[in-house]
Amino acid sequence: MSAKYLVTSALPYANGPLHVGHLTGAYIPADIYVRYLRMMGEDVLFICGSDEHGAAITLRAKKEGIKPRDIIDKYHPINKDCFEKLGIGFDNYHRTSAELHYQTASDFFLKLSEKDVFNVKLSEQYYDEEFGQFLADRYITGTCPKCDFHSAYGDQCENCGSDLSPTELINPKSTLSGATPVLKETKHWYLPMDKLQDWVSEWIEKQNKSETWKKHVYGQCQSWLKAGLQERAMTRDLDWGVPVPIEGADGKVLYVWLDAPIGYISATKDLTDNWEDYWKNEDTKLVHFIGKDNIVFHCIIFPILLHLHGEGFILPTNIPANQFMNLEGDKMSTSRNYAVWLHEYLSDFPDKQDELRYYLTANMPENKDSDFSWQDFKEKNDKDLVGLLGGFVHRTLVLIQKNFEGKLPDSVNDVAGETVQKEIDHVHKVLNDLPEVINKSIHNYEFRNGLNEVLNIAREGNRFLNETEPWKLLKTDKEEGAKVLATCLEVVSLLAVYLEPFIPFSADKIKAFLNFNDNDKSEILKGNYTVFRTRKVNQPEHLFTRFDLDAYKKEGKQVFKTMEAALKAKENAIAESTPAVTKSIAPIKPLIEYDDFAKLDIRIGTILEAEKLKKSKKLLKLLVDIGIEKRQILSGIAQVYEPETLIGKKVVVLANLAPKKMAGAESQGMILMSDTSEAFTFINPEGEDSPNGAAVS
Ligand SMILES: [Zn+2]
Repeated sequence: MSAKYLVTSALPYANGPLHVGHLTGAYIPADIYVRYLRMMGEDVLFICGSDEHGAAITLRAKKEGIKPRDIIDKYHPINKDCFEKLGIGFDNYHRTSAELHYQTASDFFLKLSEKDVFNVKLSEQYYDEEFGQFLADRYITGTCPKCDFHSAYGDQCENCGSDLSPTELINPKSTLSGATPVLKETKHWYLPMDKLQDWVSEWIEKQNKSETWKKHVYGQCQSWLKAGLQERAMTRDLDWGVPVPIEGADGKVLYVWLDAPIGYISATKDLTDNWEDYWKNEDTKLVHFIGKDNIVFHCIIFPILLHLHGEGFILPTNIPANQFMNLEGDKMSTSRNYAVWLHEYLSDFPDKQDELRYYLTANMPENKDSDFSWQDFKEKNDKDLVGLLGGFVHRTLVLIQKNFEGKLPDSVNDVAGETVQKEIDHVHKVLNDLPEVINKSIHNYEFRNGLNEVLNIAREGNRFLNETEPWKLLKTDKEEGAKVLATCLEVVSLLAVYLEPFIPFSADKIKAFLNFNDNDKSEILKGNYTVFRTRKVNQPEHLFTRFDLDAYKKEGKQVFKTMEAALKAKENAIAESTPAVTKSIAPIKPLIEYDDFAKLDIRIGTILEAEKLKKSKKLLKLLVDIGIEKRQILSGIAQVYEPETLIGKKVVVLANLAPKKMAGAESQGMILMSDTSEAFTFINPEGEDSPNGAAVS
């Protein structure tokens, strides 16, 4: 166990509101982790704040004809307010525009510069002559050299995720004027990451041994290391940001990805004078909660910076990045306004914070992308929260109110009859096992599982109630019935405590039903819950209500209106861009008998390897696992799909098509696709219910 914990959540850009994908990525998991650690009496600091620099902010300001400051002053309070309302308990939600941050980032850079860490050199960079400005990062777009995506940014291609530099772009265009930029010489400070390659590799191996990193986090680091680390400019020619604190560097600011993680340090400084007790203390465990798009910055660049800076800064123990959450099967998008925005949700459903926390935890993209669906939200709300959890708590407390005026007699401490006692012992076993399984889940960053384990005690409680039927028992043997209810009350007491990290608002309500005090909590954490058998309880209210999706849509709640508008806009865009021919649908072919169909052997498979075929422009050579064996299949989709984007994709395969030679290679089957005259699209058998080899019939 560490002496101290320093927990950070990714600093959100203060250039727009936050959506549920952000929340489930870096904020809910961190909050659960911190709340649990605090409950166990650990010394924890929980740090976050607005990232108020970077090209995304200055560009937006230019477009809207306002100042960057106007944008950050608008969104910082909006985002802070959403976090507070959702119970995300940061100790400090700081700002990178704060004076203290400027000083901290500036000193940090200066220290690195004094240690001669940087390669300072002149290089040719794109320049917009009309605007008189160098074009870094998002100021420049062009075609991605890796995937041909036509609007890749100067720092990254959002289509294939490649990390780019502006000079790699094909057909570069200035985002400011739309003109083709010219090359002009400028001076920058480069971080020689290539020299740190061995150090980073060894460090990651060591960390991964002391506390296993998530597979996809470790994997992404390995693919960076395998490609070989490159030097990277840590400064930018921009007029918004922390100025480079060196003479002769006028008009230059620190790269936002140097400045932002230092924001964790300045936020801690702003919170406490004892910040070094955390940041420079070998007994502190530093954990960064982030989304998968930030892995390289937190796992490679920031550790390198801390290492080179020296002065005893600790390095992160773990970086449990989450994957992405989609919305109704489609990527959430800020530019398309396709998302469930937190400020809209909170205004539509001001009392349903826990319902959202619950859904985002039960559906958290911990190891693979997940999907937010309103129908699923409704089902989980109605089944898990209203039916199971709320139902169990309410049933228990109402029975105690109705039959015992809120307080069970002392006789519940006596042993029950054999049958009932056996059931009680079973419940006790489940309760006794809970602390350890929860502890393990939380420390393994498996919050979905942790939440499910807590709910399992409510499931056990319900099972116990249905098995013993106290409502019948109370009529024939009131004392025995009371003993059953006493056991249920123990379950409710544990729920009040162990639900707190996950759904704190509801946990507080249960605590109020039970007249809880702080001492009660520590008794339960010590495993002493039998004292609650005779606790005087209050008349309960319902913890949750059904989520009436249809009515909310009819009422015109904003979250649905926003989504529908985005979907409508997308439909219109597709209709406009689709040529008339594809709108005409091919006529149905002549009828066949079932026996004709039965001859086809159609299976589920996974693409393991994909590469272009030298002799063909159209064909890709794929290696597909169809459960019983691996097949080489040629597919005429080379003009539509990049091979590397296909690895791991689940596909539908016609497995008994006679082998055929094409372009010098043999194809041993066919991938089934939906085929319009415009494009081919995969038929997607996602999910565990479609294992490789499963027959399609
Ligand atoms: Zn790309």
